[in-house]
Amino acid sequence: MGATGDLTPELLARSVWSDEDMAAYEIPFKDVPFITIGGGIGSFVTVDYLRIAGVPASDIAVLSNIGHPWQTYEYLTRVSQIPRAERIRSDSSSRPDNIWGFPSYALTEAWRDKSVKHLLNVLTEPVFADFWTPRAGTVFEGLEREAARIGYQDMLVKCAVRMVRRREAGGYFVVGSPEGGPKRVVYRARYVHIAVGYPGLRFLPDLQHFRERYGDYEHVVNAYEPHEHVYEFLKTRPGTVIVRGSGIVASRVLQRLIDDREAHGLGTRIVHIFRTYVDGPHGPVFMRRRGGHGWAYQGFNYPKSVWGGQLKAQMRRLEGAERAALYKKMGGSGANTPWRRKWQRQLAAGRAGGWYETRKGTVDSVVPGAHGQLVSTVGGEEIRSNYIIDCTGLEADIAESRVLADLLEHGGAGRNPLGRLDVERHFEVRGTASGKGAVYASGTATLGGYFPGVDTFLGLQIAAQEIADDLARRGFCRRIGPVRSTAQWVRWLLNRPI
Ligand SMILES: Cc1cc2nc3c(=O)[nH]c(=O)nc-3n(C[C@H](O)[C@H](O)[C@H](O)COP(=O)(O)OP(=O)(O)OC[C@H]3O[C@@H](n4cnc5c(N)ncnc54)[C@H](O)[C@@H]3O)c2cc1C
Repeated sequence: MGATGDLTPELLARSVWSDEDMAAYEIPFKDVPFITIGGGIGSFVTVDYLRIAGVPASDIAVLSNIGHPWQTYEYLTRVSQIPRAERIRSDSSSRPDNIWGFPSYALTEAWRDKSVKHLLNVLTEPVFADFWTPRAGTVFEGLEREAARIGYQDMLVKCAVRMVRRREAGGYFVVGSPEGGPKRVVYRARYVHIAVGYPGLRFLPDLQHFRERYGDYEHVVNAYEPHEHVYEFLKTRPGTVIVRGSGIVASRVLQRLIDDREAHGLGTRIVHIFRTYVDGPHGPVFMRRRGGHGWAYQGFNYPKSVWGGQLKAQMRRLEGAERAALYKKMGGSGANTPWRRKWQRQLAAGRAGGWYETRKGTVDSVVPGAHGQLVSTVGGEEIRSNYIIDCTGLEADIAESRVLADLLEHGGAGRNPLGRLDVERHFEVRGTASGKGAVYASGTATLGGYFPGVDTFLGLQIAAQEIADDLARRGFCRRIGPVRSTAQWVRWLLNRPI
């Protein structure tokens, strides 16, 4: 073993490292007790809890490849047609910038706009109005304010994290590659939290095949990648777009196509392909949902009792196949979208006008046609289009994240009944303990665990609360009891630094 100042293949092959290894290889490292990897909304809410629980900023490092916590979220919402002025999906009290959820976003927007219409909406929903949801911009402004209040930038280290390895004497080494050098930074930490968001884009197999085979990344696009050129093309001449998928992103993309059609008098034709076509109310008796014209409707992406009711309690007790079965039952036919009056009106107009058509089935093939068009074959029928927008998914296997792949290979982590990262009820990654140290994880990578709503603002906060409680039990931070909570809420309201 020679001193190299860098990680060697021999060291990388070993799952457990020691302080002596670091000395022998002359690898410098910094001590920070708590590290969160990712730096998105999940890291942010966890750090927010810990700061409120009394942890100084100097005891926390956020290792992230983005400059502010809402950056990835804003990018994904913007390309999937939710710019700042549009409304997101979650409700008024799901506030990632406010662990108390009060005042709600509706109160904030009412105060700012000097209008009671937001409050009337909340009081009469969902019978007389659609569910009230905040503007994306309202969420970002709140996050910006709270980030400044808790000193987020002081904790942020811009780098791409490569791995978390157990330390022989307890705790972990975390290795990152900083932007613009040096080549490596190594941290020695007792606690590590991982919230790396979506491992990657998932394309429908036939569309992936088309892109690779014909090298055409322009006409077949994913709704989560920039695709403004599609809307721009349609402004120059009439064209046909195939939309695939039936979740909220499909709804947004259709809204954009139809808004443009209405605003600019366009001749856009839309063919919407549903793999699972829902033609009426569906689901088991106690989880019955609205449906029709292909869509499954649900206000939020999970039934509300997932966050604090009967489903939350039930899931917490289930293991293995039983847990997987309840997830399946809850998910119903798969994708769902909120029932919104505007979307209903637009699609009804499209059906009546003959420019919005639906098809049921799976696509057998997509090949190039004449004049730069695409030919999709569905159940023997050939459909010609100028573009295909894939609105089906963002999820990829967790092993596509290099940190999670390494944790599965070297860190003792395993998979849950849905194939994602196996976490305990308090979000510690099972099998990864190292002496008195612990690794926690939150977000979509942990879907399939004891708590179902993990990939939501509220779910990320529930995970953060469990993690903060566990760290308080271990003596790392204070418990957020009634006195601390009230005092801290007042500070939040007055925007006083922690
Ligand atoms: C379009 C869209 C709309 C959504 N709308 C809502 C909504 O209305 N309400 C709601 O409650 N939830 C919503 N969600 C779900 C969820 O709340 C958000 O996606 C949220 O951003 C998830 O937070 P996260 O921290 O898990 O991931 P992110 O916010 O994506 O952050 C993870 C970060 O980790 C970084 N990272 C990954 N690997 C590494 C590495 N090796 N080193 C350094 N950094 C790394 C990534 O670059 C990313 O920036 C929505 C999701 C999407 C995609």
